[in-house]
Amino acid sequence: MLAECIESSISLAKAARDGLYFSGQVLSITPTTQEQVEILKNVSTQYETGLWQPVSPHNIKELKQVHLYLPGNSSETVKNLLQRHNIAHEVMLPNADEIIEMQMRNDSGDPRSGSTFYYRYHTLEDIYDWINRTANDYPDKVKAILVGSSYEKRPLYALKLSLNNRPNKKAMWIDCGIHAREWISPAFCLFFVHYSLSFYNVNTEMTQILDNMDFYVLPVMNPDGYKYTWTNRRMWRKNRSPQKGTSCIGVDLNRNFDANWCTTGASSNPCDETYCGSFPESEPESQAVANFLRSHKESIQIYLSIHSYSQMLIIPYSCSMDEAENHSELYEMVKTAADEIRRYYRNTYTYGAGAHIIYLAPGGSDDWAYNLGIKYSFTFELQDRGRYGFLLPPSHIQGACNEALLAVKTIVLKVMEKPQASMGSRQAGPAA
Ligand SMILES: [Zn+2]
Repeated sequence: MLAECIESSISLAKAARDGLYFSGQVLSITPTTQEQVEILKNVSTQYETGLWQPVSPHNIKELKQVHLYLPGNSSETVKNLLQRHNIAHEVMLPNADEIIEMQMRNDSGDPRSGSTFYYRYHTLEDIYDWINRTANDYPDKVKAILVGSSYEKRPLYALKLSLNNRPNKKAMWIDCGIHAREWISPAFCLFFVHYSLSFYNVNTEMTQILDNMDFYVLPVMNPDGYKYTWTNRRMWRKNRSPQKGTSCIGVDLNRNFDANWCTTGASSNPCDETYCGSFPESEPESQAVANFLRSHKESIQIYLSIHSYSQMLIIPYSCSMDEAENHSELYEMVKTAADEIRRYYRNTYTYGAGAHIIYLAPGGSDDWAYNLGIKYSFTFELQDRGRYGFLLPPSHIQGACNEALLAVKTIVLKVMEKPQASMGSRQAGPAA
C-alpha cells in the first residue's frame, strides 16, 4: 500500500514537471474585506481544499493570513475564482506533491543511513519497530508502557525513560502526534528519546535533568490518523472514529478533553476539523492519556504536547480568556525558552497564553492537564511559520528538533529550581 502510494506520488510529481497535470499547491491569502472573508469561508468548505491556517473557517478574519492547501485537481479552479473576486493571493508552495514525495522517501533499507534515522519521517510500522527496539536495547532504562489503544485497536505505547534509580523522582509527560498531519511532532518524540539515551552523562544539562526526572514519551497519540496520512490523505488531522448519523469521520482529539469542552472555538459538527466528539473523552485515545495522567498526577509535574506549525510556545489557557493562576511563572519560562532559541538558532518563537496569541481552542489536553493539577503545562508548535507548513522537508527536522529540545531543557531546568520540585513540599503550610 505504502509502496504504491509513494509510486503514485512520484509519477504524479513527474507528470507535474512534464506539464501533464497540476500539482497540489499551498496559497497564502489575506482577505481585506468582510466580503472576501465570506468568499474564502465558502471556498474552504465547498472545494476539496485543506485549510492549514486557521484550522477552522470560523476563524478566517480580515487582514489575517490564510494558508490554504489545494490538491492538484482543484488548484486552477480555486485560483481562478480568487482572481475573479480580486482576492490577492500568493503561491507559498507551488510543488506540494514533490515535497510530499520527499517527506515519504524512506531510506531505512540503507545500512549507512543509521545516523540519519532521526532526520527522516517514518511510517507507523517503523515507529512501532523503533519502540520495540529501543525498549529491548535499553532494558534497564526504558520501558514501553501500554497506556491504551486507538479506535482501530492499535496500541498506544508510552516510553518511560528512567535513567537512574533515585527514589521519588518527579516526571514529565510528552505526547506527540495528536494531530495526524503534523509529522514533525512524532519525529520530535523519537529524537528526544534518542537524545536522552545518547547524551545522559555526556551533556551536563541533560544529565542534571535525567538525574532528577523521569520522562513518559508517547510518540504517536493518534496512530489511526497518522497511518491514514501515509496511505490515504496527507492532510488528515483528526482520529478515525466513525460518527453516528453521518459519513464524516473523526474527532479532533485536541478538542476532546474536559476543559470548557465544546464551547466557542470547537465544533459540534462531525464534518468539521475541530469536531469535539460526542462527550468529553469520548475517544479512546484522549481517554487513555487522561486516565494515565489522572493515575500519575502525583509524580507528573510537567505536561507537554507537541504540535506544528507556527513556532509558538503556548501556556494555559486556550479554553478561556482567563489567566492561569501561575501565569507569570509560566510566561517567564516560555519567554526565556524563546529567547534562548533566538540566541542559539536565530529563529523566532512567539509565546503566551493560547487564547490570547492564537484564538479560543477549548477541550485541549494542555488546559485539561493544567486543571488536573499539573501546574507546568505547555503546548509547543514547532517549525515552520508557513513556508512549508505541515510539509516541512526532512532537511528541516534536525533544526526543528534542536529548537524544541532547547526549549524543553530550559523549561525543565527552571521547574527544577522551584521549591515545590523537591518531594513532599507541596504539603507545606501557607507559611512555606
Ligand atoms: Zn496540532
